[in-house]
Amino acid sequence: AAAGHGPGCATAATAAPYRCGGCGCGGGDGPSTSGRAGVHTSCSSACSSDRGCSGGSSSPGALLRLKLFSLNDYLGLASHPDVAAAAARSALRVGLGPRSSALVAGYSHSHRQLEAAIAELKGTEDCLLFPTGFAANLSVLTTLAGGAAGEGGVAIFSDELNHASIIDGARLALRPGSGSGSGSGSGFGSSGGGGVSLHIYRHNDLAHLEELLAACPPRCRRLVVADSLFSMDGDFADLRGLAALKRRHGFLLALDEAHATLVCGAGGGGAAEAAGVADQVDLHVGTLSKAFGALGGFVACSSAMKALLLNRGRAYVYSTSLPVPVVEAAAAALRVSQREPWRRRHVWSLVRRLGAGLGVPALSPVVPLVVGGEGPTLELSAALLRGGMGGGGGGGGAPYTHMHVPAIRPPTVPAGTCRLRVSLSAAHSYADVDELVAAVRRSGVSLITLPHLLEPA
Ligand code: PMP
Repeated sequence: AAAGHGPGCATAATAAPYRCGGCGCGGGDGPSTSGRAGVHTSCSSACSSDRGCSGGSSSPGALLRLKLFSLNDYLGLASHPDVAAAAARSALRVGLGPRSSALVAGYSHSHRQLEAAIAELKGTEDCLLFPTGFAANLSVLTTLAGGAAGEGGVAIFSDELNHASIIDGARLALRPGSGSGSGSGSGFGSSGGGGVSLHIYRHNDLAHLEELLAACPPRCRRLVVADSLFSMDGDFADLRGLAALKRRHGFLLALDEAHATLVCGAGGGGAAEAAGVADQVDLHVGTLSKAFGALGGFVACSSAMKALLLNRGRAYVYSTSLPVPVVEAAAAALRVSQREPWRRRHVWSLVRRLGAGLGVPALSPVVPLVVGGEGPTLELSAALLRGGMGGGGGGGGAPYTHMHVPAIRPPTVPAGTCRLRVSLSAAHSYADVDELVAAVRRSGVSLITLPHLLEPA
C-alpha cells in the first residue's frame, strides 16, 4: 500500500479509525483502516521516501489523506488489531521462525494449524501452504503435468483470462521434466515424452471448452484450470457449468480462488462454495495476500494430491517456508473473518452501491471502470490522485479527497480496454464509495461496458 515508509508517513495502521458508514453491519467499532493511508503530497503510492516531497498543492513534506481503492485487502484485515497482535506476539516469541524450506526445517506447528484451518474452510482433506499464490499455481501445473509421464500425456485447458501465474505455470509445464521434484539444477525429470499440451479456451466459453475436451484423445489426462473470480474484470467463472462439464468429460479441476476466498460463500469458502460446487473442485488454489491480509499461498486438496505437490512441486520443495508471524497473522485473519461476518456483508453492499452509482456492472469487489485508451485512463487515474473532483470539493476550506485508483493497461488487459481497477474493501465506508462515484462522474469520462460483464456466469 501507500506509505508506511518512515517517520513522515501516516501508515494504514496509524490512520484515523474507520467507522462504518451506517449500513447496519455492526461495524461501527470496526477499527480497520487500510482503506485509507497517508502519503507525501505529489508522491505516487509507490513512494519510498521518508523525507517528504516537494511539489503538489501542499507545502513540501506535508501529508495528505489518500483513499486507496487499490488494495486487495477485501475485508480490511491487514491492519486489524487482532491480526497485528498475532503477528507481533509470534515475532516476539520466535523471531521470523525457522528460515529453511518446509521439507528441511521450515515447517512449524503454526504452519500445520493454518493448513488444517484452511482445509476445514474449503472442505478438503488437507492443505499445503506455499510462499505465494504464484508459487502455488506454478507447482500445481508443473506437478500435475509432470506426473503424466508415459501415461498418454496431459492436456491442460486454461481460460484465456486466467492469472499470469497460471499462464506461466502452464508454459513451464510444457517444458520436458518440469514436474520432477528431483534435482535443484536445470529441470531434468521424468516427463518421458508423455507429452503435455495446452489449450486456451475463450473466456468463460464452456461450449468452446467442451469442443476442445472432446478433441482430446481418450488416454490423455485432462486438467482444467480457471480463476474463480477474474482479477481484472471482476467476473466469475461459470462454476456450475464447469462442474457439469466435469461430470460429462472427467477431468481434474483446479480453481484459483485468490480473489474469492473469504469474500464469497456463506462461510467465506470462496466462489465454489457460493455456487454449491466446492466438492467438484480437486485443487482449491488461493493466496494469503488478499482477503487474508498477509502473504503466502495455499492449495487445499486431497491428502494424496498434497503428497504429490509436497514431493514434486519445485516451487514448494526449493522455497523457504513462510515466516511464522505471517502464518499466525493469516490464521488470526481467518478467525476474525469468521467472527465478524459483517465484513463480508459490508463489502458486498459497497459493490452494489458503486455499480448503482456509476451505472456499470459491478459483480464483485473488483470493479473495472473501463475507459478505453491509455491516455484518458492515465489522466483519470492522475486526476483522482490529485483530488479536487470529489464530493469534498476544495471549496469552503473542505479538504480535497485524493484517491488512488490504479490504471491498468496492456499487456495486463487487452488494448482498447484500459481501465481503472477499483478494489473495494470492508475498510471503506459508504461515504468513501460515494466520493469515488462523485469524482468519476464529475470527470465527464464515459465508461465502456465489457459485453461479457452483462451476462454474468
Ligand atoms: N492468482 C490470482 C488470480 C491473482 O490475482 C494473484 C495475485 N495477483 C495470484 C494468483 C498470485 O498470488 P500471490 O500474490 O500470493 O503470489
